Amino acid sequence: MKKVAIIGAGLGSLATAIRLAAEGYKVDVYEASDSPGGKAGQIKEDGFRFDTGPSLLTMPFVLRDLYKAAGEELSDHINIIQPEIICRYFYPDTTVFNAYADLSKLINEMITVFGESGASVKGYLGYCKKIYDLTADIFLFNSFSGASSFFSLKALKTLINLRSIDSGRTMHEANSSFFKNPKTIQLFDRYATYNGSNPYQAPATLNIIQHVEYYIGGFTTDGGINKISKSLFELAVKLGVKFRFNTPVKEILLEGKIARGLVLSEQETKRYQVIVVNADVNYTYKKLLPNFSSSAGKKYATQEPSSSALVYYWGVKNENQKLEAHNIIFSANYEREFQEIFVEKTLPTDPTIYIYISKKISYLDAPMGSENWFVMVNSPYINENLTEDSIEAMKWRIIDKINSTLKINLGENIVFEKRLTPFDIEATTSSSFGSIYGISSNNKFSAFKRHPNKSKEIKSLYFCGGSAHPGGGIPLVLLSGKITAELIMKHEK
Ligand SMILES: Cc1cc2nc3c(=O)[nH]c(=O)nc-3n(C[C@H](O)[C@H](O)[C@H](O)COP(=O)(O)OP(=O)(O)OC[C@H]3O[C@@H](n4cnc5c(N)ncnc54)[C@H](O)[C@@H]3O)c2cc1C
Repeated sequence: MKKVAIIGAGLGSLATAIRLAAEGYKVDVYEASDSPGGKAGQIKEDGFRFDTGPSLLTMPFVLRDLYKAAGEELSDHINIIQPEIICRYFYPDTTVFNAYADLSKLINEMITVFGESGASVKGYLGYCKKIYDLTADIFLFNSFSGASSFFSLKALKTLINLRSIDSGRTMHEANSSFFKNPKTIQLFDRYATYNGSNPYQAPATLNIIQHVEYYIGGFTTDGGINKISKSLFELAVKLGVKFRFNTPVKEILLEGKIARGLVLSEQETKRYQVIVVNADVNYTYKKLLPNFSSSAGKKYATQEPSSSALVYYWGVKNENQKLEAHNIIFSANYEREFQEIFVEKTLPTDPTIYIYISKKISYLDAPMGSENWFVMVNSPYINENLTEDSIEAMKWRIIDKINSTLKINLGENIVFEKRLTPFDIEATTSSSFGSIYGISSNNKFSAFKRHPNKSKEIKSLYFCGGSAHPGGGIPLVLLSGKITAELIMKHEK
């Protein structure tokens, strides 16, 4: 069997490594940092534990499928939990909306709180499901290779039903055509941020995300999302995958147009027959293939990065009874907020704030009588408007807004603080411009522009992870690993 090297130990890498090792490939993983998981890491300090990046797991069947591929049961490794309320929403006029995991309770809440009719909510969710049914197979579950991907029966069905995938309207336009209450529209527009996009620009096809969260469900695990990283790492080790941490790869070794190995330092070069990159695509062409003139790389570099994030990890005294595990405090003018993030590229004046408290589910994540608050706002990707002063000013806008919504004095209760800025995201995971989901989906052709999992220019070079097909987010990077492993099994026997 061929020897495979993977650059990076993010979730996409772990999925690729497990699938290849389960088929008998010899896999070595090189990771720049000291632990596996990449963006799905954790901070453990002063009695507090925080997930550093992802907080919500969707499409858990993708994870289950990965354990199956290794001959294992997910439930023997991770306790997947579905909170009763997926997310609690706070609106500026004091309206509180609970997005229940139970569909009939959710619809009831929409009737009572937003005054929607049950029929219109059901009709809308049916519309989201139809888009998922028509697109998931082509755009998520299989390798996407442009025109040739359309020569299948399923693809034919999608082509025939092209209008139903609603790529001609923006998410906001589509959502406004279903509902009159601006609060319902804001709720459903929010799902554009699940892949770092702007609902006022992104095609309505992205309304599949609502189907994923409301029909398939929103989950977490006992022990937080980092539990997934740790458990996948352990499974990979059990299958014989070798990891080298604190080992940044300096360059990919090429012989002509064939990937042949890795340069680890001036003294150390390792030869392999297959190279898989889990690092960011732009970074890879710039830093790891500095002497290769790639037209795919040049094309990819012209794509708009997804949004970034500013996160505060706050250890907070007291337990707040108004908050659930996942909470959103909405801005008063959503269109203005996205205009600032994506067009003016500044931190929003009035941000929508996400608060995730894993302790509400995993009781050991904070000392008794206190909570671990992961507080995140969407941020533009790195540009000259993003300065230390603007980040510091944002911190106080966040605190003020939380205080006025929850009627507390947060500043007095913070006993631990760490933060993650777009600059930290770029520095710690190599994601160019600090983007958290690779490229944005702000136009209807974005799904076609993600980087393929197999290089068309360099033999034996593959890409998995959030900046490659099918995109960012836990389930998609795990699928990216599956597609990449399958391509390697097909082409690198
Ligand atoms: C704040 C935040 C919140 C998020 N929330 C969610 C959420 O709720 N739900 C969800 O599904 N997704 C969420 N995401 C997105 C999700 O975390 C990512 O899509 C996913 O974890 C990315 O996985 P990846 O395989 O692309 O690898 P990454 O996590 O990007 O890891 C890449 C790894 O490669 C390593 N590396 C890079 N260059 C080198 C080199 N030269 N040599 C060796 N190693 C190298 C890096 O150190 C890193 O460990 C969030 C992300 C962030 C940042």
